[in-house]
Amino acid sequence: MANRAYNFNAGPAALPLEVLQQAQEQFIDYAGSGMSIMEMSHRGAIYEGVHNEAQQLLRELFGIPDNYKVLFLQGGASTQFSMIPMNLLAEGKSAAYVMTGSWASKAFKEAKLIGNAVEAASSKADQYKRIPALSDIQIPENAAYLHITSNETIEGTQFTDFPDTGDVPLIGDMSSDILSRPVDISKFGMIYAGAQKNLGPSGVTLVIAREDLVSDSPKTIPTMLRYDTHASNNSLYNTPPSFSVYLVNLMLKWVKANGGVAAIAAANAEKTKLIYDAIDGSGGFYRGFADAASRSQMNITFRMPTEELEKQFIKESEQHGFVGLKGHRSVGGLRASTYNAVPFASCKALAEFMADFQRRNG
Ligand code: PMP
Repeated sequence: MANRAYNFNAGPAALPLEVLQQAQEQFIDYAGSGMSIMEMSHRGAIYEGVHNEAQQLLRELFGIPDNYKVLFLQGGASTQFSMIPMNLLAEGKSAAYVMTGSWASKAFKEAKLIGNAVEAASSKADQYKRIPALSDIQIPENAAYLHITSNETIEGTQFTDFPDTGDVPLIGDMSSDILSRPVDISKFGMIYAGAQKNLGPSGVTLVIAREDLVSDSPKTIPTMLRYDTHASNNSLYNTPPSFSVYLVNLMLKWVKANGGVAAIAAANAEKTKLIYDAIDGSGGFYRGFADAASRSQMNITFRMPTEELEKQFIKESEQHGFVGLKGHRSVGGLRASTYNAVPFASCKALAEFMADFQRRNG
């Protein structure tokens, strides 16, 4: 049995041991080809088979309708922050952003570089501890799209329902909660996510987009930054991140073998309940950062009575085999990221460690 850490990293993050072992078995000689998958042409039948299988599995597992494209791009979710307004924010239109935290702010900043971007709602005055009420979201009449960040990785907040935007395309940054729960894709014009939390390793960015939004990009945008370049070439216009796509495919097979997205969502809820219960049952020793109604099922953020105790908690947790529990510097405190591949056993061990730490220091 491999010596595996209790890995709560925010991303890149834990991958299932089975996936890593399968990749290890196939590493040097993929399917009897005498080559690693990363040594072969992306135009060959073997790689194309993997590429297409990953798209197909995503369609099946996430319920992606036929009139949506599934793209594998590069540059991370951060490049999508620019590509979205470059492709979709036409002259005379406004891009509307729901300001939920650090990542929404970064997306908004890029949009303002490209065109007219406005805030549709914001919880900044509440330190981004909550997701704004859907009824507070104001969509301008000339909106090109409404952008939301479905899960704020740093603050640890998550949308439970999504706004109804009528004819205005809803665009979701799902980098930190993609495939963690069922989603009605038809409510969205576009969904995007870096792979390195729930989908596999870093290096590939998933874009799921309604065909009409990616079929005719403005002619003035550089070729590689146009959605239509990638949509019309099955994401094979240039060399794709083939090894990352291969690992995403293995990860998708793992999701399927574990019962699909609904089963994963149920497992995630059980995992996070252990840790939120440890917070809520601590009599205030641990304090959740996010408002209870906006709590994330992916990133659990909490504080302790003093920064000294927080430092001690992190130090001791590392001695006990836990990794990645330090909160992001902008929020401070602790953060446990419990993505799809984080085992129940890791969450159980953390809840027990939290109780034990409190007994010794509370
Ligand atoms: N959006 C969210 C919600 C994220 O959590 C991250 C990365 N942590 C990003 C965007 C940026 O992703 P990338 O590093 O792939 O550019």
